[in-house]
Parts: sequence; C-alpha cells; structure tokens
Amino acid sequence: MTLGKTLTVRAPAKINLHLGVGAPREDGFHPLTSVYQAVGVYDDLTVEDGDSWSVDVTVSDWMDRSHVPLDGDNIVDRAAALLAGHHGLAVSGSVHIDKAIPVAGGMAGGSADAAAALVALDRLWEANTSDDDLLALAAQLGSDVPFALVGGTALGTGRGEVVEPVTDTGTWWWVLVPSPIGLSTPEIYRHFDRLFPDAPAVPPMPEPLLAALEAGDPHALAAALHNDLQPAALDLRPDLAKLIAAGESAGALRGVVTGSGPTCVFLCESADQARETAAELRAAHDVVLVTTGAVAGAHPVSYV
Ligand code: ATP
Repeated sequence: MTLGKTLTVRAPAKINLHLGVGAPREDGFHPLTSVYQAVGVYDDLTVEDGDSWSVDVTVSDWMDRSHVPLDGDNIVDRAAALLAGHHGLAVSGSVHIDKAIPVAGGMAGGSADAAAALVALDRLWEANTSDDDLLALAAQLGSDVPFALVGGTALGTGRGEVVEPVTDTGTWWWVLVPSPIGLSTPEIYRHFDRLFPDAPAVPPMPEPLLAALEAGDPHALAAALHNDLQPAALDLRPDLAKLIAAGESAGALRGVVTGSGPTCVFLCESADQARETAAELRAAHDVVLVTTGAVAGAHPVSYV
C-alpha cells in the first residue's frame, strides 16, 4: 500500500418512483417491485490509508449527527469487514462520511455510504474486485446497496437487490422535503403487514410508469408515481398528508412519500416550477431541497 493515499467517493440518495410490496417471504423479507431513481443529494465518503481503522461523520447543519451510529455499528464498518474478508485482507484506513442524505428518511443514505465504502476501499486496498463481486457484496449489506452502486433509473426485484437499468429519456425535477424526525423502516413494514394481509407474493410490474420514463413525459410519470408503503407512513405520520397536499397546491405535478418515508418528493414539470414549489413549502418547512435525477451511482470524485 502506498502511504498518504486519499480518495473521495460520492454516492447518491435514491427515491422510489414506484414501490410495490408483497407479502413477507419465508426469510422475513418482503418481495419488492421497485423503480429507483438516483437524485442529486449526496454523501461524500473520504478514505485515507493507515494501519488502524476508524469511521467518523460530519452532517449538514440541519441534521443531527447523533443519529448516525459510530463505535463499530456503522454500515461502513460492515462494508469494510465484508470486502476485506472477501480478499483475505485486514481492515485498515480512516473513513470520513460527509452526510447530506437525511438519516432514516427513506432515501437509503446508509446504503449510499455502504456502496461508497465498497468503491473507495476497493481502490485504497488495490483489491480490484470485479463488478459482479462488488454487486454481490453490496446485496449482502442491504437491499438498496446494489442500486447505490449502479445509480441512474433502475428496476429492483427480489427484495430490491436485483437491479436492472430501465430506459429513461427524461430530466426530472424534484422537490424533496425531509422530516426532522425519521421513520423506522421495520416499523413501517410491520404496519404495512397489518394493513395489507392479502398482499401478493410478487408485486406486479408498473408498466405505465416504465412507459412514462421511456417517453420522458412528466405528466404521465406524475400520474404513475406509486408507493405501497404510503398508507402505512401516512397512518403513522398524518402530518405527511398535509405536506403532500401543500406541495401539490403550490404547483408540483404530484407528491408522494418515498421508500419507507418520511421524506416526501414532489415531481415538477420544470426547474421554474420546482423553485416556485420549494419557495412556498419553505414557509412551513425548514429544509426543502430542489434537485434532478437521474444521476450516477457511487463514483470517485478525487484521488490523491
Ligand atoms: P432504508 O435503507 O432502511 O430505507 P433509510 O434511508 O430510511 O433506510 P438510513 O439513513 O439508511 O435510512 O438509516 C437507517 C438506519 O441505519 C439509521 O437509523 C442508523 O441507525 C443506521 N445506520 C448505520 N450506518 C449508517 C450510515 N452510514 N448513515 C446513516 N444511518 C446509518
């Protein structure tokens, strides 16, 4: 290993354009039919070589750093152990996470960090892991981690970890409203099971949504946005229904809860409509982000 090497890898948040959820499988996981899009809200993960191992984090000023586990419990620790074990290497280096993806926001921030760690440590350790092996390791770390590697717009099946790019000809403008209080993903799935005891074994394909992406048509995409977890999220957090109504009356084409929530995402027809919607929502919400998708999966942005 060359001393003094530093590498930064950027990994995007995801939103779900479609999230179809089935009845729990025997292994306890829910079968999913998900259409993910990577959007321009990122965590940056910087690794530096060294003999010992450490992980620390800084967060955007509106986030609470104490919600990110350190002391060996971070998903980055698990990613490092898995990659090192795969190659018979020792875990080494210091990792700094610069976090802008809301924690427990349904935007797969932890999964983004895991994907960034795989890419960064693979380079730092000069391990030359094949793409197929990286994807397999990612799937072991979590259902959303393979998508964080691939990015773009993609269909996720299985428990979300089997990822296949879809044709997407649009540039999509989004307004994102994270919530200061996160929602627990397991709790949302438990509530989903109570609300929908007859969920299908395999959630169906969202054909109209895939056609809207191929056509690049924002009105058709807005009409097709769907999240099976939204009723559970709205039950546990009734304030989100008001937020969705406020975004739609501010001009957005459509608002939905993303993933297991509580972040709500609003599709807009144009940059101007997104800026106007965001300006109105800022009257009642401290953090309102404007961004676009699709963007690249985890990728290096600096190498020293
Ligand atoms: P999910 O992928 O389950 O939808 P999410 O996007 O709602 O998750 P995350 O920000 O990924 O939420 O965090 C879920 C939990 O994972 C956190 O509450 C935290 O305890 C734990 N966690 C572990 N490592 C990280 C990390 N690097 N960043 C954020 N959370 C982490």
